[in-house]
Amino acid sequence: MKRLWPRHVRSRMTLWYVLVLGVLLLAYAGGASLYLFYSLREQLDHNLLEDVETVESMLETTPSGMITLESVHHEEDDEPNKHRFVEVWSSNGGLLYRSPTLQGEALGGPPRVSPEATIQRSPSTLRLASGERVRVANSISTVDGRRVFLRVAHSEQGLRREIEEFVSVLLLALPLALVLAGLSGFALARKALAPIDAMARTAERISAERLNERLPVENPVDELGHLARAFNATLGRLEAAFDQLRRFTADASHELRTPLTAIRSVGEVALQIPKTAAEYRDVIGSMLEETDRLTRLVDTLLTLSRADAGHVRVQRSDISLLGLAQEASSLVEVLAEEKRQRISLEGEPALMVSGDRLILRQALVNLIDNAIKYSAMGAEIVVRVRAGKDNQLMVEVVDQGPGVPQEHQSRIFDRFYRVDRARSREWGGAGLGLAIARWAVEVHGGEITLQSVEGQGSTFSVTLPSTNTAEKNGPKEVST
Ligand code: ADP
Repeated sequence: MKRLWPRHVRSRMTLWYVLVLGVLLLAYAGGASLYLFYSLREQLDHNLLEDVETVESMLETTPSGMITLESVHHEEDDEPNKHRFVEVWSSNGGLLYRSPTLQGEALGGPPRVSPEATIQRSPSTLRLASGERVRVANSISTVDGRRVFLRVAHSEQGLRREIEEFVSVLLLALPLALVLAGLSGFALARKALAPIDAMARTAERISAERLNERLPVENPVDELGHLARAFNATLGRLEAAFDQLRRFTADASHELRTPLTAIRSVGEVALQIPKTAAEYRDVIGSMLEETDRLTRLVDTLLTLSRADAGHVRVQRSDISLLGLAQEASSLVEVLAEEKRQRISLEGEPALMVSGDRLILRQALVNLIDNAIKYSAMGAEIVVRVRAGKDNQLMVEVVDQGPGVPQEHQSRIFDRFYRVDRARSREWGGAGLGLAIARWAVEVHGGEITLQSVEGQGSTFSVTLPSTNTAEKNGPKEVST
């Protein structure tokens, strides 16, 4: 059965269409034939009842006491008379007359009701011994003062012939109508589905290299237009993701090449001229420094790619935000001391967030590290923890550094983005610190923003939902 079922939607649609239409047409033909049958029979009954009256007026008694039909009949009566059958019975059940057309056959035998009783006049169907079907009507009549029981029957032959003709015309026309409907249905389905074919062909052409191509949208509001728009939107997202990936790979390779080139050239130069042990130690020291930079970079790249792949599991626990800020600043304290800078912590230890300690700490470390890197010797850095609006908590890292020019502020959290490439590389940055910080905050449902005026320092603000809100939004916890 599965094999016979058509593979193409247009053929399936046509087949369904023809099947449904076939059933409907059959039901219609059946209904129409029944209706015709009943209305023709009603007509026949009407004529029959009229004929009963005619026959009553034609009855007369023969000298032998039997009954006969008046033999005067008109030319036009000949035809119907062939199909008219009459029986007359006496009130005591004796047969008084039977039409010769019956050829001795009975129209139902002696009447079971006494002629005095009222009788059912509405006609009924009877099958004669010859197989012919007739409609029979009964009547009680008086012939020359004698009460007789009269039966008149009309053949149903004409009626049946008409019904048969009607049904056969319908049955002949039905396959023709179905073939026509099938052909036009197929053409319509093909026309309706043509845009899908076109879309599929375009979609087949679109490869990773040609992600900028889009499907044609003929009518944006109809179903196919909707499909094309949805597909195009997916392509747009794919294209953006591919672009980002390409840029990321290119930037990452570039960043990796710089320390590698440095290691190589330091080594080559050292090999050219013989050196003292102390000089070699220096060379090895600077090579190790570059290796450190490389290791940090590779670690960061790994963190980002695991974050992108969704492989980083956030292990939540309740954390005091001030405690976390303290931990983060103690990790970078040495760097601040080198520059004789002071990190002051402000805020309430009771302000708690639900989050992954290590991930959130990394975000704060990156922010404080930047504040140290970009601020001048002896500057002060403030890390402030406070309650924000709508049950949110905030950590602000405020420095008195050079600030970030307005035009760079929107891109500063992008991967590999640096305001001043040359200067920031001097301090070991690859432009990934803020990208990681943003990911770390966003994965906790928070937000990171920057307020800065060039030359007047920067304030990086991290907003996080407090423990209560986090619980409310959490999948399992129910707030009480
Ligand atoms: P990097 O590793 O270069 O510091 P980040 O992603 O941490 O990368 O920062 C991106 C850029 O933003 C930096 O190159 C720097 O130009 C600028 N920036 C970050 N923090 C500060 C700050 N506190 N003050 C001034 N500029 C900053």
